[in-house]
Amino acid sequence: LGQPCVFKLVLLGSGSVGKSSLALRYVKNDFKSTLPTVGCAFFTKVVDLGATSLKFEIWDTAGQEKYHSVCRLYFRGANAVLLVYDITRKDSFCKVQQWLKDLEEEFHPGEVVVMLVGNKTDLEEEREVTFEEGKEFAESKGLLFMETSAKLNYQVTEVFNAVARELWQREESKEGQ
Ligand code: GDP
Repeated sequence: LGQPCVFKLVLLGSGSVGKSSLALRYVKNDFKSTLPTVGCAFFTKVVDLGATSLKFEIWDTAGQEKYHSVCRLYFRGANAVLLVYDITRKDSFCKVQQWLKDLEEEFHPGEVVVMLVGNKTDLEEEREVTFEEGKEFAESKGLLFMETSAKLNYQVTEVFNAVARELWQREESKEGQ
């Protein structure tokens, strides 16, 4: 028993894709149409995986992505990354390539669990990126993939749970070595 293992999860992606909203929905089950920018804050949440539990420390970029200068401190010690785009904005999906390059500079291959997240599925009529495009890109890069709506609380918990399960499996396979 004792304290659950802590994993640092960082949110990454272009401005306004819904990074803060996903964190807010997951941690507080809340949604706001305007969100204040909080400087370098993080949320914590304990994830119950049935047989075990772990604790997430969830970091939000706090708008730094606008200047494309997400600080090193932000990435330091991260175990998982949610790479978020907005399904109604092709440009935010194209930018994912660039964020991945940044991640390659910061981490060794396989060092962090990365999930590609296509957010705002409630805006289906404005969709510019198909589910298949997202899924195929994620598969080609070896990333987990899901689509979400922070607004409607669609698949938000599932995203974090899937990442938690993946992290836990990696821990177990490390122990087994
Ligand atoms: P961030 O800059 O990536 O952290 O994005 P925010 O979380 O601040 O969200 C940007 C805007 O998109 C805000 O007005 C949110 O209310 C809105 N938003 C976030 N998620 C969703 C969603 O799932 N659906 C819709 N329709 N709007 C969303």
